[in-house]
Amino acid sequence: VAKAKQSGAVLFDPAFDISSQGNLSLASELRQAIATNELALYVQPKIDLQNGKISAVEALIRWRHPQKGLMFPDQFIPFAEQSGLISLISLWVLAEAARVEVAWRKLGIDAPIAVNLSTRDLIDQDLPHKILTLHQDAGLALGGITLEITESSMMDDPQRAQQTLERLSDMGLQLSIDDFGTGYSSLAYLKRLPVSELKIDKSFVLKMEEDENDRKIVRSTIDLGHNLNLKVVAEGIESRAAWDLLASMGCDFGQGYHISKPMPAADFPAWLQRWQAQ
Ligand code: C2E
Ligand code: CA
Ligand code: CA
Ligand code: CA
Repeated sequence: VAKAKQSGAVLFDPAFDISSQGNLSLASELRQAIATNELALYVQPKIDLQNGKISAVEALIRWRHPQKGLMFPDQFIPFAEQSGLISLISLWVLAEAARVEVAWRKLGIDAPIAVNLSTRDLIDQDLPHKILTLHQDAGLALGGITLEITESSMMDDPQRAQQTLERLSDMGLQLSIDDFGTGYSSLAYLKRLPVSELKIDKSFVLKMEEDENDRKIVRSTIDLGHNLNLKVVAEGIESRAAWDLLASMGCDFGQGYHISKPMPAADFPAWLQRWQAQ
């Protein structure tokens, strides 16, 4: 039994043991955080690089931990994925995004919110139905929602993931391939999956002005996306020069610190007003 358990654990993550003391308390803290609304939805604007208009925002989760302060997704999303708590978190994010969307509509703001999903979400065959229910309850159409997925999130069970994605796409949701170029089998997935958008990972964009190879990768990715009739988004725009370079290469949309860092969703309406006044 010990041996089977050991090899089973190795398949997932050799360092991970849900029954260890630290993980147990993190798991219960995280459950608590979901229940008591310690999680916070931050948003980062996604702009049209040709005219600077806001086209959407991306939801990025934060945890306002009572002792540890503001925690970033890298500090708890991997744990949530390994422990199975991610499905609860994803539902929280989807519900919160719907709530925010409704609040913004009342202010006359029409900015669709893109949500990041994980591997585990895609093998949950009930996900499309859960999303449908959430949005019917909120009185929102499904057409405006974008789900950002990574190539690696397809690796666990590619067939099941593909089925889920096809159902979501049939329901009218937009799918976006996140972190493009950093995983594997990217091209095969692009060919097979019903995606409408491709996001160039910031690791290529951040150094593209100095690094000729990065610049070539960015340019080829934009062309590849367009040849496949996809919209192309660049992450990690940290300067006006990067924005201009991407716009000159024909990149459709962009996000980055130069435009805005992620902010609490409640701050977005005022930010948008300032942005539109410039
Ligand atoms: P991602 O989806 O690739 O998101 C982009 C990350 O780059 C975000 O980090 C964002 O804050 C950061 N970023 C944006 N603009 C710039 C820039 O100009 N320069 C630099 N250096 N960084 C920039 P964040 O918010 O820490 O999120 C990290 C990752 O955590 C995300 O990567 C995503 O994979 C995951 N994540 C975030 N929220 C969620 C969520 O609600 N659910 C799931 N499953 N994953 C999430
Ligand atoms: Ca993303
Ligand atoms: Ca990325
Ligand atoms: Ca990512």
